[in-house]
Amino acid sequence: MIAQHYKDMLGAKSVIREISEWSTARGKEIGYENVFDYSLGNPSVPCPPQFTEACLDLLEHTDPVALHGYTPTLTLPEVRAQVAESLNRRFGMDYTAGHIFMTSGAAGALAHAIRCVGVSGQNIVTFAPFFPEYKPYVEGAGLTLRVAPPRVEDFQINFDALDGLVDENTAAVLINSPNNPSGVAYSAETLTRLADYLTATGKKYGHHIFLISDEPYREIAFGGVEVPYPAKFYADTLTCYSFSKSLSVPGERIGYVAVNPHAEDADYIVPMCGQISRGTGHNCPSGLFQWAVGRCIDLTSDLQVYETNMNLIYDELKKLGFTVSKPDGTFYIFPKALEEDANAFCRKAMAYDLALVPGDTFGCPGYFRMAYCIGTEKVRRSFAALEKFVHEVYG
Ligand code: PLP
Repeated sequence: MIAQHYKDMLGAKSVIREISEWSTARGKEIGYENVFDYSLGNPSVPCPPQFTEACLDLLEHTDPVALHGYTPTLTLPEVRAQVAESLNRRFGMDYTAGHIFMTSGAAGALAHAIRCVGVSGQNIVTFAPFFPEYKPYVEGAGLTLRVAPPRVEDFQINFDALDGLVDENTAAVLINSPNNPSGVAYSAETLTRLADYLTATGKKYGHHIFLISDEPYREIAFGGVEVPYPAKFYADTLTCYSFSKSLSVPGERIGYVAVNPHAEDADYIVPMCGQISRGTGHNCPSGLFQWAVGRCIDLTSDLQVYETNMNLIYDELKKLGFTVSKPDGTFYIFPKALEEDANAFCRKAMAYDLALVPGDTFGCPGYFRMAYCIGTEKVRRSFAALEKFVHEVYG
């Protein structure tokens, strides 16, 4: 008999993927250049040339047996040291290689982090709007995901909602800053308040509540803004990172978990990750890509296009009368729809060849997401369609 749980999941396919599939189908009819596809968060800029050079150099000049061999259970020590040094330099932390575990992207990092701190029957609390894959990530580990409603004024944390959600079975709080889909980064004030809350609540329930900080967009920050580093605010933090967006290599599946050295039982966590990998099957990410990201540790793709697009779209949305928070980073923006039902709003937009994603899928009905990882020329061209849509449908 096949597993009913996964069979049931087939009926609840990703809304984002479905809209993206519609864009592709529509593109076949009218030419993809005429579909304004704001659905998918797939980087639109190439990886930096140094990444390609690093891969070529490794392929040409490393003993193939070593290059393509199994990497150690706890991943490559020299790369873990490179990650630790970079984080220490940039954020004033004191990681050693022993606190870093290389993973298959942020998804792999989260799979390990959740299992390190939570067991079946416990819960993890996150904040809307949130990345919808958190549900399968958390439920796949046997825990329950609890979602705090959004604070739509500025998309910082809704602390008023926390008390009803965090309880003695809460293993961790899961945050994502800069945030997919809002683009907002949590301020130092928000992170300080969260740290105080978790410290006090952990004491109340007699166990440490971990913070899992999902940061695949850390490097995509606008206006020279320094995005506060959550682990700096709270000792019991597991930072989950991905090179997917910073180096534009989502297909290579490479990221890491960084364990704050001051976390409870910090020295056990990376060795535990090695054991968790045995069960999840996501052990030993590609050695080639571990080495390659190590060599590019402080580099990014040319990310400027995302900021250019964000400024153009933000100004256009304001001009059209949308309520919208200005993103601090990522390649997403999350305006309020022009009618209560964002699903209806996004469906109507399709008639104008605009692919927008309703906020319901991020736990925030009434809003919609635009992923502007597309060319600036297309962003500009989409404004005529957006204006026509708004004027014809909403007067
Ligand atoms: N977390 C967030 C907020 C994301 O947006 C994504 C991917 O889009 C991930 C995690 C997963 O990242 P990766 O593809 O690197 O595993």
